[in-house]
Amino acid sequence: TLPPEVFRLAVEQAAVAISITDAKARIVYANPCFEKMTGYSCEELLGKNQSILSYKVTPRLVYDSLWGQLERQHPWNGLLVNRRKDGSRYLADLTITPVLNTAGETTHYLGLQRDVTEVH
Ligand code: FAD
Repeated sequence: TLPPEVFRLAVEQAAVAISITDAKARIVYANPCFEKMTGYSCEELLGKNQSILSYKVTPRLVYDSLWGQLERQHPWNGLLVNRRKDGSRYLADLTITPVLNTAGETTHYLGLQRDVTEVH
């Protein structure tokens, strides 16, 4: 079986930006690729809401659909206009998956995002 350490190393070294939040979307983990993409260090991100990345131009409807899906414990995928620490804008292709505990409750969310500014 796969040692837990390999899970950690795989996430650390993934070439995709990965974050884990609590059930209120507060960041509890961000991998190095996430730091590089957003310009924020882990220390700056920990405890902050993921909305720290919002460029504030994504329509409310998009967030409503996002939270609607997550509340039903379904994954959500979509495009969000995000803002780096330096204020620059990028388009994020984001997939969020609820992480359920053994009792079936959502305790965390897993976020995977790629910068697709060039593609669109
Ligand atoms: P609102 O959506 O108005 O929400 C206010 C607060 O409540 C925020 O803390 C919000 O996160 C939280 N919230 C809202 N509805 C629920 C609910 N049903 N259950 C629990 N908490 C709720 N947004 C981005 O703009 N860019 C990102 O890259 C991004 N990545 C995310 C990654 C993950 C893993 C998660 C879970 C969320 C992500 N979000 C992202 C969504 C983000 O948390 C905000 O909902 C969004 O940015 C809108 O911000 P707001 O200030 O308008 O907050």
